Amino acid sequence: MTTHQKAISLKPLHTFQLPYSASEVITITEAGEVAELVGDYLVLGEGSNTIFTCDFSRPVLRIAINSINVEETDEGFHLSVGAGVNWHRLVRDTLEQNMPGLENLALIPGSVGAAPVQNIGAYGVEVGEFITSVTAWDREQREWREFSQQQCEFAYRDSVFKRHPKRFVITKVQFFLPKDWRPRLSYGALVDIDKHASAYDIMSAVIAIRNSKLPNPTEMPNAGSFFKNPEVTPTAFNAILQRHPDVAHYPLANGNIKLAAGWLIDKLGLKGFKYGGAAVHLKQALVLVNNGKAKGEDVVALARYIRQKVAEEFGVLLEAEVRLMDDNGLIEL
Ligand SMILES: Cc1cc2nc3c(=O)[nH]c(=O)nc-3n(C[C@H](O)[C@H](O)[C@H](O)COP(=O)(O)OP(=O)(O)OC[C@H]3O[C@@H](n4cnc5c(N)ncnc54)[C@H](O)[C@@H]3O)c2cc1C
Repeated sequence: MTTHQKAISLKPLHTFQLPYSASEVITITEAGEVAELVGDYLVLGEGSNTIFTCDFSRPVLRIAINSINVEETDEGFHLSVGAGVNWHRLVRDTLEQNMPGLENLALIPGSVGAAPVQNIGAYGVEVGEFITSVTAWDREQREWREFSQQQCEFAYRDSVFKRHPKRFVITKVQFFLPKDWRPRLSYGALVDIDKHASAYDIMSAVIAIRNSKLPNPTEMPNAGSFFKNPEVTPTAFNAILQRHPDVAHYPLANGNIKLAAGWLIDKLGLKGFKYGGAAVHLKQALVLVNNGKAKGEDVVALARYIRQKVAEEFGVLLEAEVRLMDDNGLIEL
């Protein structure tokens, strides 16, 4: 069923909770309904990676397809999951039913439909590894598409869907969780977990770590990591190393070096730095928060200030991980 609601507040529909509204919110419950929509609209999941910086005159589309189908084979479990399912609910359900694999990705906010968009990742694991295909409506060609894992072009916080933000509407995601499961505990915060821990115990540990480190958006509105961790060439890295021998980094397979954006921001002493009602979180420099009174322009100004300071000190241009939206679409920082 398709429902249309007019003049809806976006505050409860995105975790940064800015006080703006949408001219219309359309909700669909069946995949076929998306093919009947015409004109421009923005697809919104749970709004945990989207910040609305003003009132929105385009309709916002929400996908309430909440089915989870599982097929077991000798090798593992094939899951077909509706885009509207809450991501953490899927992680918890699979682990409660002895289907290991997604434990490192526990408690990431958002919907299953958005998970492939930025190839969500945490603690050394990315969702793209488990996705076998994605079903999406192509708004440009007006046809259904089935993307294989390869066609999704997954990369660090990136995919074909993220690069074409107005083109695809994901209605269903297919996953494979192999029975040949091994724990993935090599990432920093997880190294102390018992090597014989069950997948369920690892999920519990991940939840505890995340709760202790990240501000809960329901208590302090935020959109998680605001910037991506930048990748630099060895030459650029050596220049930074000269001035900052303690720079947090790790080498990549392609020879480049990944830097921790939070470390760069922290090094500039910006924790707690405020712009109107928007601020850098006191404990997590990579997270920007809304003190309850932030306006869209505060968030954009703060993000631009951080980006400029990081560029001046480290010669690195930070890229937003969140989708900052105004009425025309994505805001370039
Ligand atoms: C506290 C916190 C912690 C976080 N931690 C992590 C983390 O550890 N790792 C990580 O990767 N991310 C993290 N995030 C970011 C966020 O959880 C993910 O980006 C998540 O996938 C967003 O899901 P959503 O449904 O809220 O997406 P939304 O914000 O609603 O949408 C995000 C983008 O996807 C598009 N989109 C949404 N649904 C669809 C669809 N069905 N079809 C096509 N396009 C769609 C939207 O148009 C938008 O461009 C965190 C966020 C918060 C607030």
